[in-house]
Formats: sequence, C-alpha cells, structure tokens
Amino acid sequence: MLYLVPTPIGNLEDITLRALRVLREVGLILAEDTRTSRKLLAHYQIDTPLRSYHAHNEHAVTVALAEQMEGGATIALISDAGTPGISDPGFLLVRECVQRGIRVECLPGATAFVPALVASGLPCDKFHFEGFLPHKKGRHGRLEYLAALPVTFVLYESPYRLLKCLQQLAETCGPDRKACVARELSKIYEELRTDTLEALIEYYSIPARVKGEIVIVVDGKK
Ligand code: SAM
Repeated sequence: MLYLVPTPIGNLEDITLRALRVLREVGLILAEDTRTSRKLLAHYQIDTPLRSYHAHNEHAVTVALAEQMEGGATIALISDAGTPGISDPGFLLVRECVQRGIRVECLPGATAFVPALVASGLPCDKFHFEGFLPHKKGRHGRLEYLAALPVTFVLYESPYRLLKCLQQLAETCGPDRKACVARELSKIYEELRTDTLEALIEYYSIPARVKGEIVIVVDGKK
C-alpha cells in the first residue's frame, strides 16, 4: 500500500505519532529532496531506506513504484514540508495506485494553507485553494477568475514576488479588499497580518519585512 505522510512546515514538533510509526515501519520512503528528509528522519532516529521522488522523475518512475506495491511493498511518500500532493508531487502516484486498486492512505497532518486560512480572520467556512499562480503566461487570467470568486481564496507565493502579487491582487480585486499575509507559520518569526490590500502593500514595501515562506489569504467578492 501507499501512505502519504505529512511532515512539519517549520516546527519539528508538528509531526504525529502515527506519522513517525509509519515512517519507521514501511519498507521504503519516497522523498522530494533526500538531503532535506534525511535531516528530519535523523532527528527522529528513523533509518528506513530513502529514494528520491520529485517533479523531474515522477513521470519516469511512477509505474515501476506501483508495480512494486502490487508485489507487496509498502511505501510512504513525503515531501520537503507539509502534505504531499498539495503544491508538491504526489498526484501521479496516487492516481496510478487508485487505478490499480492499491490501497492509499493519507495521514492527517501539517500543511501551510490550513493554519493561514483559519487564523486569518477571513471566512473559512467555504474557500478556494489556488496554490501557486503561474509566473507569466495565464497569471492575469487566474487573477481575474479569483477576483470574482464569492469565497475566500488561498495562494502560495514566494517572498520575491509577494509585493508584485499584492499589487496585482489590488488591481483585480480592488485596494479595499481584505487579505492576510501569513509568513513563517509554526516558526520563530511567524507573522499573520490581515488588512486591506492597500495597507498590506504599504507594509510590505519595506523589503526587510518580506522574508521566509508565505501564504496569502484573500477575502471573497462581496
Ligand atoms: N506541501 C506543502 C503544504 O502542504 O502546504 C506546500 C509545499 S509548496 C512547494 C511550498 C509553499 O508552501 C511555500 O512557498 C509557501 O507558500 C507555503 N509554505 C510552506 N511552509 C510554510 C510556512 N511555514 N509558512 C508559510 N507558508 C509556508
């Protein structure tokens, strides 16, 4: 069978007891970056064999991995941080397993968008998860689509594009739309700032304030 195992998005304590047990018990762990994951596994004294599974090899190795599982292997998939398959590799392998009738279990656990959404103070009863916007082609079209949504939406963005992204959101959603920038979740310098897009643009115009990993949560169209 295949286990999808969430790993911490910053704070190493954010891993469940079941996740640690599964990672110890499986025959093989597939990891996005084996160097990153080796550090996490060493921290918990887990010495299960590791193999890399990432955006550049997933198409080539998915079928062979599924065949291994059909032959009786139990495999866990992890990503560098958070839940595999959420803006990370995982979908192709899960789809292959589901099509072949291989059992798939995703453990509940860390992911960046849930704490950002829930602590933003914006409605979280209904929401749209967008993940990363395309950098160039198609970006404007997605922004127009998102601006018209009547529910809160969630984006992943790099610190290098935060200011530009906030400016583009203000252009499409209007400067008075409320949003939240959630930075460095679960880490020492965690910061959540909810305000109008205009005020967020002003605040994050100071480059020293834009550091680390970022989730943007935007209020829906009223
Ligand atoms: N699989 C992950 C998940 O479940 O959330 C997402 C992986 S995606 C490649 C990485 C992006 O997630 C970052 O660029 C950032 O937008 C967001 N992210 C990850 N860790 C974060 C953190 N500690 N604080 C804020 N955002 C974070």
